[in-house]
Amino acid sequence: MSGIKEADVNAGNEQRQDTFIGESHPRDGREWDAQCARCGSSLDWHQCDVCGGEGITGLGELYEEDPLWYDMYDYKACHQCGGQASWPYCISSPDWCEAHPLRGREKTKSGTPEWFVIRREASRPKAADSVQKRNEKI
Ligand SMILES: [Zn+2]
Ligand SMILES: [Zn+2]
Repeated sequence: MSGIKEADVNAGNEQRQDTFIGESHPRDGREWDAQCARCGSSLDWHQCDVCGGEGITGLGELYEEDPLWYDMYDYKACHQCGGQASWPYCISSPDWCEAHPLRGREKTKSGTPEWFVIRREASRPKAADSVQKRNEKI
């Protein structure tokens, strides 16, 4: 299936950004990886060990705590991670990261993900590879 072409294709005066600072990368079919926006080190992801990366309480957990108040299928945002489930952290030591910000990133928090494209497009056949059909007239 081919994706829907967006109107921004024709915007010739605007370059598509290949880096992006934020919690998650745009879902545009390209492959993204993240580095620490403060110091440029790699990021690793810490998964909440209370909810196991789910971001919510386990099935029946609230019901066990208080069967009168909760239903079996009730859940709340995990009290430890607040529903975030997993979060990035800079693999350099916090001290090093603090001491070595990239230019202009002195106020960026350690572990802020800066996304960059590692592959521009999802695998798609090249137009040049398509076989041209010839109408043979006799
Ligand atoms: Zn860092
Ligand atoms: Zn959690």
